[in-house]
Order: sequence, then C-alpha cells, then structure tokens
Amino acid sequence: MKTVMQAAILIGGKGTRLGNAVAETPKPLLEVCGRPFVEHVMCNLRRFGFTDFLLLAGYRAEVVKERYGPDCSFARTLGANIQVVVEPQPLGTAGALQCAAGYLHDEFLLLNGDSIFDFNYLDLCRGSCANEPDNWLARVALLPVQEADRYGFVELDGAVISAFREKPDTPQSGLINSGVYWLKSAVLEHIGSTPCSLEQDVFPRLIEQSGLIGRSYRGYFIDIGIPQDLERARKELTNKLRRPAAFLDRDGTLNYDEGYTHRIDQFRWVEGAKEAIKALNDAGFNVFVVTNQAGIARGYYEPEQVTVLHTWMQEQLAMCGAHIDDIRFCPHHPEGTVAPLAVACDCRKPGTAMLEDLITQWQPQLEHSFMLGDAEKDAAAGRAVGITGLQVPTGGILQAVTERLQAYARSTPATD
Ligand SMILES: [Mg+2]
Repeated sequence: MKTVMQAAILIGGKGTRLGNAVAETPKPLLEVCGRPFVEHVMCNLRRFGFTDFLLLAGYRAEVVKERYGPDCSFARTLGANIQVVVEPQPLGTAGALQCAAGYLHDEFLLLNGDSIFDFNYLDLCRGSCANEPDNWLARVALLPVQEADRYGFVELDGAVISAFREKPDTPQSGLINSGVYWLKSAVLEHIGSTPCSLEQDVFPRLIEQSGLIGRSYRGYFIDIGIPQDLERARKELTNKLRRPAAFLDRDGTLNYDEGYTHRIDQFRWVEGAKEAIKALNDAGFNVFVVTNQAGIARGYYEPEQVTVLHTWMQEQLAMCGAHIDDIRFCPHHPEGTVAPLAVACDCRKPGTAMLEDLITQWQPQLEHSFMLGDAEKDAAAGRAVGITGLQVPTGGILQAVTERLQAYARSTPATD
C-alpha cells in the first residue's frame, strides 16, 4: 500500500434542498460543531493515514479556494496536503472527477463532502477478498439500513454489485450506497460525455462487466443534504465522533520484547496483534500506542530510528486494513547517559503524561477506554488516568481485546 494515501472529496453540488443556508456557502462548508462540515470529514480521514486531499469544487468555488488555497492553515494543522480543483461548469460527479484526472493516484478514495460514514476506511482500501473478482474498478462502501426511504437499494451477487434499485415506495430494510468509494483511476475511461454522473451513468457500465464490488459496513452515518439532518448534525456530531480508546503498550504487547527493539529487522509482531488492532478499528475505537523507550536516554539509538520503525509498523498494519491513530514514546530514564534525557519524568509509565497528552488532543470517551500492556506499570498508568488497566502476558492481546469488544457491544445499542 502507498505511504501517501489520497482522498478526493466532492464538494461542488449546489445543495438546493437547503435553500438560503447555501446562498453564500457550499453545503460541505456549512458550520457544524465549530468548523466547516468537510473539516470533520478530513480530520476523520487523517486518522487512517490519508494525507493528500483533493477538493473537487464547483458551486461557490471561490469560497473553497479562499479557505483551502495554498498555505492554508487547516492543512498545516492537519499535517496534510490540500488541493482545490474547480469544474468550470456543473459536470456531474463523474465530470468533476475527470477534471481532477491529472492529480489522481492509481487508486484513491472518493467520497462526498456533505456526509460522514464512520467505518474503518482502510478495510475498504485493503487488497481483494477471496470472493471478489480481480477485474474490479470500484469498491463501494454499503450501509445496511432499516428504512431505505431516502435512498435506493443496492443488490449484491456475492461480492459483486448486480443492480441499483430505485427508492422503494414503502420504507423497507436493505443495503444503500454510502457514497464512499475506493476507485482505480482506470474508472475514468468509462466516463463518457459530460455532464456525467458516477452513480447513474458510470456505475451501471461497470455492473455490466462485473467491475463494481460492494463491501458492507456498520457505523454512524449522516448526510447534511436536508435541513432536518443538518440540524441533527449540529446537535450530535461531536458526540457521535467521540470514541472509546485503546491505549496499547508496544514491546511485549504488539511485538516480542527483544530488549531495546528499535530496528525493523528486530521487530517481530506478536501473533494476533495486528488482528486485535483491526478489530478495534472496526469497532470504532481510537488506537494509541504509548511506549517507554529508555534506550534513547541510554544512548543506544536515536528518536528518529523509533519514528522510522513506527512508520513501518503503520505500513504493515495498512496492508491488513488496520491503523494506529497516534503514538507517544518516552525517551527518558533517570539512569540514562544522554544528559538532557537522563531525568525522572512524568511520561515514563507508570507515569501518565503520554496518556494525558493523548486524552487532551483526541478527547476520547473514557468510559469504555482501556490501557493494555504486558507489565503492571502499563495497567497502573491506565488506572491512574481513570480508565481500565489490563496486564496481559505477551501473546494474549487478541483474546483480551476480543473480550473487551464483546463487553462494549453488549453495553452499547447498535447504531442503525
Ligand atoms: Mg511492555
């Protein structure tokens, strides 16, 4: 998987159903919970490692360019690259994508800037499943709903999408298209004359050659296309995107503790560790790694080597559809030899500064959060910040995480 992952976001639509609210502002830039809605979309994608954003603008594009043009402060804060591509006139979703042809990666995510579907995006990007044909051009994230009254249905034949159905006359349950796609750039070859709609013109052509795959996910979904749902988003979005967090120790928990592991050739994943992280991603948890790296204070290795190793870990995880949201490491030790780092600090576990820093930045929901590690000091650090502390021997992470997630599922109602 590419280290730089790209997401193209459609923000060019007129949003006519919102009336005066969009007279001056494109719908995805309407303020929701303290910031333009599309920034919630981008912040969520950044968690999964997306760092290259293409905003496909049209209606009121000047507002988009002013806010997200070169040197935009939001992009700097996010640690991402944002480019605005403007369609000269309304060309439909596929036409807007065609305008960005020169910027697109071989594979990229495409989604709507006026909706959020909260699921594990990396699962949609990861390699083919056994029952999927190799010649796919687009993967569609599907959402099971109880009452598909606003959207049409999607029909599956195994993993392949066989049809899109019109909105049913009476509400009924089924799968809907969430508007989140993982596309190969070759899909552009199927765009004919514009205006052209991806959903109405291009996808039916892909269905004819079995090139459209569906993967179904559960998760919070909101589309601010109608006034009631815009109001609902303004009331609930912040809370809906607050997640419980799993704070994980590294050495002896995710990898075998060989003593001062700091190079890729020394790193051996514990069986089940990657699967445990993916299960947490799928369940909507934030996943954080908090690790004591006293080897830095002792002069055995440099912080940069730790960062290189962690980047490699993220690449390994992405290949199986998993990711870590954020990592903190403590470089100190009171008996170290590198002068400024040879101190008693607040961050070395069982100290809590690494966990507190993550809690301040990410604002997780603490009720179901936990800290898991192979040492008592890991569990103690968790308890000290008011969350469950679990000491689990090396090799036990998958079972322990599975049990936590089962308890979490029992205590929270389904989202749909
Ligand atoms: Mg450990």
